[in-house]
Amino acid sequence: MAPILSDKLRKRFARMPINETHMNQPLAEQIDAILPQTQCGKCGFPGCKPYAQAIAEGRADINQCPPGDQIGVQKIAGLLGVPPKPLNTAHGFPKPYKMVALIDESLCIGCTFCSRACPVDAIAGAVKQMHTVIAAECTGCELCIAPCPMDCIHLVPPAAENLNNADNLPAAGHNRQAADLARSRYQFRQQRLEREKQEAAGKALERKNNLPSRFESESKTAAEARKKAAIQAALARAKTIRTSHPGTHSSGKNA
Ligand code: SF4
Ligand code: SF4
Ligand code: SF4
Repeated sequence: MAPILSDKLRKRFARMPINETHMNQPLAEQIDAILPQTQCGKCGFPGCKPYAQAIAEGRADINQCPPGDQIGVQKIAGLLGVPPKPLNTAHGFPKPYKMVALIDESLCIGCTFCSRACPVDAIAGAVKQMHTVIAAECTGCELCIAPCPMDCIHLVPPAAENLNNADNLPAAGHNRQAADLARSRYQFRQQRLEREKQEAAGKALERKNNLPSRFESESKTAAEARKKAAIQAALARAKTIRTSHPGTHSSGKNA
């Protein structure tokens, strides 16, 4: 696949200090700090940080984030020292204001599909219980909508009185506080998923390791049963012989 970055951008990366070119981490973090942290995946990556990392490594273009809007593209271009380009709407269109998800709780069957899909753990609820969105933590990413079998989740605009609030204007980090909260909740969720994955792998390994000892104990039981059966058969044979030849096995009194 042809590289996405222009020669100019590649040359700029080449001139960067060793700690940035080698690790890319500081640059990725600077890009991530510009991104709106909606964590919607519309850029083609599973979150803002992976997209930031991809831009820093030259694997993605700077204009793939619809929630970040044109302002976001310009900020990233400014950081990298490259000319801005139009937002690539093949990845989606920006929204006029930040939307939040709302669950029609009367229809919810408590299947948990939505809470498992939420990248920032903004949905509260338990199995077979009503679920609800914590509006202050919802980024409006829409990822909970498609998995809902009851079609009872919808995005709603902020309350009318908040429509002109800067916090609800198009993204690109207008509300850095909300973006920072979303980033930390996203990271916390990633860590939780990783921990659960490791725990599941540990349990699977434990089960696997326990298999031989179970077989061992099963085969031990079978061996004991075979031994017992052999003794019983030997005793039965001896009894048969004694019955058919009564004098053969006397104590010697008749001799
Ligand atoms: S907010 Fe932008 S960078 Fe973050 S996941 Fe969505 S499209 Fe990608
Ligand atoms: S509640 Fe839905 S829209 Fe809001 S952050 Fe979670 S998945 Fe995204
Ligand atoms: S996916 Fe829909 S039905 Fe299932 S718990 Fe969420 S809101 Fe309720």
